[in-house]
Amino acid sequence: MLTLPKSSRIAHELCHIDADLRLGVFQRQLAWERYSQSRWYRMREERNTERRVIELGYGECLLELIRYARRLGYSFEREHGLLYAEVLRAEALRACNSRMAAANRY
Ligand SMILES: [Zn+2]
Repeated sequence: MLTLPKSSRIAHELCHIDADLRLGVFQRQLAWERYSQSRWYRMREERNTERRVIELGYGECLLELIRYARRLGYSFEREHGLLYAEVLRAEALRACNSRMAAANRY
């Protein structure tokens, strides 16, 4: 039985909320209007959100979610966020940078 990896979606939605909370009332309203009306704005927003999810260390969960969706027959396009290969590369880079930062502490 397939189980849905929830932590990456929760992290994704929390990153949206965090970004929204950083905006003023007018900016937030403008951002929501652009999100609902512009495919390109929405795509940029979703991709930036997933980059933040990876920065926070949830890249592996995101990869798991994409694999899960593929097994169900769904595909992830740029409109939905980062592509699988992009998440894989970003996660590898983040992990490498984390190891280097840890090594430099000693
Ligand atoms: Zn989103």
